[in-house]
Amino acid sequence: MEIKKVLVVGAGQMGGGIAQVAAQAGLDVILNDIKQEFLDKGLGVIKGNLERNVSKGKMTAEQKDAILGRIKSSVNLEDAKDVDLVIEAAVENMQIKAQIFQTLDKIVPEHCILATNTSSLPITEIAAFTKNPEKFIGMHFMNPVPVMKLVEIIRGLATSDEVYKVIEDMSIKLEKIPVEVNDFPGFISNRVLMPMLNEAIYTVYEGVATPEAVDNVMKLGMNHPMGPIQLADFIGLDTCLAIMEVLYAGFGDSKYRPCPLLRKYVKAGWLGKKVGKGFYEYK
Ligand code: NAD
Repeated sequence: MEIKKVLVVGAGQMGGGIAQVAAQAGLDVILNDIKQEFLDKGLGVIKGNLERNVSKGKMTAEQKDAILGRIKSSVNLEDAKDVDLVIEAAVENMQIKAQIFQTLDKIVPEHCILATNTSSLPITEIAAFTKNPEKFIGMHFMNPVPVMKLVEIIRGLATSDEVYKVIEDMSIKLEKIPVEVNDFPGFISNRVLMPMLNEAIYTVYEGVATPEAVDNVMKLGMNHPMGPIQLADFIGLDTCLAIMEVLYAGFGDSKYRPCPLLRKYVKAGWLGKKVGKGFYEYK
């Protein structure tokens, strides 16, 4: 099966990026969100990205217009009635994702594949909200989507080999490098990354060093492009905590316990770069 038309749910930082790379690959894209203002914002970001590519000589103005012309906006999931694939990138909340997929399940054509871009929620559990869990899969893109090459493709317990292959081929068409992963908490990316960020926050909590010192050790000593404390700020401390909670609950292993200082910052609303304050201050 060849994917020609895709509906992306959620026009935030991830959904907008996914819509952009899909349209760049020549697919017809419907970008869906709950309000037109969120769609306008998402489409504005895509337009800005493409205009930057034109000014850098990476594409022509005609190519930019053709890509934008392939993206339609939608505030109604009924628009999924004739798509080949849905990629959901709404907020990281099981209840919201369950509701979206229960609705889509009644709308999409029989052949349609349903995919979620969740960072950490179990694919098998979300798939169970649909009547065809063999047609359900995880497609975990990285942020920012137009730049980052990786997509983790996560098989739910029931995902068929045929569906996996279609999504693998489609990821390559989007100029991404797919990596196959089975459905366990945090997949690979967040199971390996998040405990490191959490441990870095523990070193600050225990007074081992300042955030700047921790970041300098990992940048200068381990050649990381960004220190773990700053990276946590960039991802969002609320997101980091939510993923640690999934790992802790999913494995029942104390090595994944979220650092009390991380909880405290989230309770204070110091969520990182997106609010101007986390472990660092952002203008
Ligand atoms: P975001 O907050 O930027 O965007 C979420 C969008 O979903 C918003 O525009 C919101 O209006 C919309 N939305 C909420 N409920 C909806 C509904 N019922 N129907 C349609 N749209 C709805 O969030 P994001 O950072 O783009 O994250 C989206 C998903 O991608 C999450 O599951 C997140 O875990 C995952 N993810 C995020 C990152 C990251 O670095 N931010 C990386 C990989 C995966």
